[in-house]
Amino acid sequence: MPKNQIIFHSDALEKKNDKWVQMGFKCDACGKTSYPVVELCPFCSSGKGKKKQLSKTGTVFSYTITRVPVGPYKPPIIAGYIDLPEGTRVFGQIHADIEDLKNGLQVEMKTGVIWTEKDGTEVLGYYYVPCKNGCGGIK
Ligand SMILES: [Zn+2]
Repeated sequence: MPKNQIIFHSDALEKKNDKWVQMGFKCDACGKTSYPVVELCPFCSSGKGKKKQLSKTGTVFSYTITRVPVGPYKPPIIAGYIDLPEGTRVFGQIHADIEDLKNGLQVEMKTGVIWTEKDGTEVLGYYYVPCKNGCGGIK
């Protein structure tokens, strides 16, 4: 990673096989997966578990559109909750045309520069885009 790049949420992403993947927590006690990575399972409070790579695709549970600037983001800002196949709900930005948005929309996680600081530092993060030709296995 170049010096002038940072990760928005350092526990959220890891590089595997030269690609960024999103990480969650898989509980050994109850078997549930949560996001972000936690020390104690939010479902059963067990501390026994490990980091787990999350699915790259999911469906929009709910979303909202902000039409005024917020921090470094330019409007319209679309953010929402994405349900992943492992039962985890992830919050993130959705990069899509507003007219394409709907609950249940199939989306795919992408990573990239989500904003640039005034000193030129690029902030890397994740966001979701609609699956144009299906998400490969998600119905
Ligand atoms: Zn648990």
